Amino acid sequence: MIRVRFAPSPTGHLHIGNARTALFNFLFAAGQGGIMILRIEDTDPERSREEMIGEICKDLNWLGLEWSEGPDVGGAFGPYRQSQRFHLYREAAGRLVKEGKAYPCYCTEEELEEKKKRALAEGKTPRYDGRCRGLSADERAKLEAKGLKPVIRFKVDPGEVVFRDLIREEVRVDPSLYGDFVIVRQDGSPTFHLSVCVDDGMMNITHVIRGEDHLSNTPRHILLFKALGFEIPQFAHLSLIAGKGGELLSKRLGAMSLSEYRTLGYPPEALVNYLALLGWSPPEGNEILTPEELKKMFNLLKVHHSAACFDFDKLNWLSGEHLRRISDAEFVSRARPYYTGPGTLPDEAFLLFKDNLRCFSEINEKLSVFDPGLEVSENDLGIAREAKDLLAGAAEFIRSEGTASYEKMMGVLKQKTGRKGKTLFMPLRLALTGKEHGPEMARLIPLLGAELCLKRLEKAILACAG
Ligand code: GLU
Repeated sequence: MIRVRFAPSPTGHLHIGNARTALFNFLFAAGQGGIMILRIEDTDPERSREEMIGEICKDLNWLGLEWSEGPDVGGAFGPYRQSQRFHLYREAAGRLVKEGKAYPCYCTEEELEEKKKRALAEGKTPRYDGRCRGLSADERAKLEAKGLKPVIRFKVDPGEVVFRDLIREEVRVDPSLYGDFVIVRQDGSPTFHLSVCVDDGMMNITHVIRGEDHLSNTPRHILLFKALGFEIPQFAHLSLIAGKGGELLSKRLGAMSLSEYRTLGYPPEALVNYLALLGWSPPEGNEILTPEELKKMFNLLKVHHSAACFDFDKLNWLSGEHLRRISDAEFVSRARPYYTGPGTLPDEAFLLFKDNLRCFSEINEKLSVFDPGLEVSENDLGIAREAKDLLAGAAEFIRSEGTASYEKMMGVLKQKTGRKGKTLFMPLRLALTGKEHGPEMARLIPLLGAELCLKRLEKAILACAG
């Protein structure tokens, strides 16, 4: 049974990078008939925030990602919060010490810092020199008697670790370059290396899919898995996500947290679609895909190892495409909560903008055209100020015939004023909306109704020259 895990640290909201990691885990498991586990890596009490756990679950649910085991749903391998698993890490570290695979190290921070500086000054890579490796039981007891509290270090013997990453093929590293590394801190808390390996091992994780920033940790983890007697999972390291020009992701580039996209009303299916394309391309070219299609098509082995490029314009394009594909009834029911303007507007008012949105919250500004209090400024009237004949003709027509027959009105106005093309349509649009672009007038005018149209036309006529 394929078992993958998404293991966020609850230090802040999910961002694009970790949302993609979660999605790739989910899609891989879904495509293979496996399951995803949610594990909260809250070993750092200072940086972890309790409320973020709920926020992360909310974001993942919003994206439609499901997990079969986790802190909220339980499962046979719990608890699923690392802060509740310290006894397991202590037990594992104790076992490693007993078996001679790890040892207490009494070197002080100051001593280590001093050695590090010296190595750097000599142009060498700093690494622990193994001083406490060979301490006898007596020597240890003496240091303990002095009140020194040790860390626990894992013994790394020289030699290359070779593994096949599912995305980057063969990786070879000699972890002894980093020296014996700490698995338990002075205060008894586990380091990331220990907790992640104990958990992946005990939770029977078969595939570790995570960000490339962890690639350099993996050889050390492989040694730990072996030492602890666990099967070594397969690894897939996802490339980093950069801006179009290779720059670091930032808000300025549109890379907001997931909760911000949620608040703005980006359809989650569009975000899922976009995230899936960050490093993976569908085999058949069509990039607009539903979550169901993605589950069937996604192939972890085809994920690229070069950096993925975050392109906000593409996300907006995809989002618009998804919005257009929603049925009219569903579109209205999803868009309505975003409308905060006055009155209750008919469904048709929302549908006027269905083809021109990137996210639901944009509808609010668009619907301001129906606000009875909307004042079109003289400045916004533009060429309407030169079109008194047209505006007066439109007002006269609406007074006698209402707003139902736009085509007929335009025919009458064309004949009456001799205007055509832009000089016929644009003044009317400007007088009624104050904008050069907007929804089809034939649909908008009947929805605005005679009263609002006449009020705006009369105001524009007053502002006209001559
Ligand atoms: N908690 C780690 C992080 O947020 C994840 C570690 C892992 O996936 O192995 O980066």
